[in-house]
Amino acid sequence: MKTKRLFESYPYSDKFTAKIVYIGDDLGEDYIILDKTLFYPNLGGQVSDSGSINNVIVNHVGLDDDNNSFSDIRHYMDVSYFQVGQSVLGCIDTTKRLSIMRLHSARHIVESILSQWKSYIFTGSSLVSDKKASTDYLMWEDISSESLRVIELQANNFIHQSIPISAQTEKSVRYWVCGTAKTKCCGTHVGNTAEISTIKLSIKNKGKGINRIEIRLLDE
Ligand SMILES: [Zn+2]
Repeated sequence: MKTKRLFESYPYSDKFTAKIVYIGDDLGEDYIILDKTLFYPNLGGQVSDSGSINNVIVNHVGLDDDNNSFSDIRHYMDVSYFQVGQSVLGCIDTTKRLSIMRLHSARHIVESILSQWKSYIFTGSSLVSDKKASTDYLMWEDISSESLRVIELQANNFIHQSIPISAQTEKSVRYWVCGTAKTKCCGTHVGNTAEISTIKLSIKNKGKGINRIEIRLLDE
């Protein structure tokens, strides 16, 4: 079995119906696996969605096998009211989802600008939530506050051009595509840069050439 990922085709949807295919527990924490889901799991540096299934709160969402990004999706929650084979109604928190999609899209735009800087070496770990997108960049030279303002201006100029964003799948690998930029990503994104509105950047120098750039939405 493999959970069908509705969030890939319907990132803006908030409700879905599905069937329970498995109920299990992971070190005492109960979870449900559905035949399909809108809930994005904690995967690829993006936090999981929030919401409910038949009005029971989903605590968090993860993968059946952390080493296999294609594995089934587990909805960790109170399973007392559920049984295998049952049809259920799932609802996700679209306010949280939309903020994540905007920040995740912004994170790609900032990376594509930064990767063209001469002191850029490598993009390290990243975490996108509904509050901020935080990414570590390895640089030959630390990014100054003046340079950060330039990157922020370039990113906002790009965002305000209302450029369409799409997802492409090639040989089971999903890509984020925006203008001439294309990068591997399995996360959820907005359909146009205009939806990001305006972003604000801040930076933390973590030492050893690692610059952590945090993106926030200016309307938050
Ligand atoms: Zn992405």
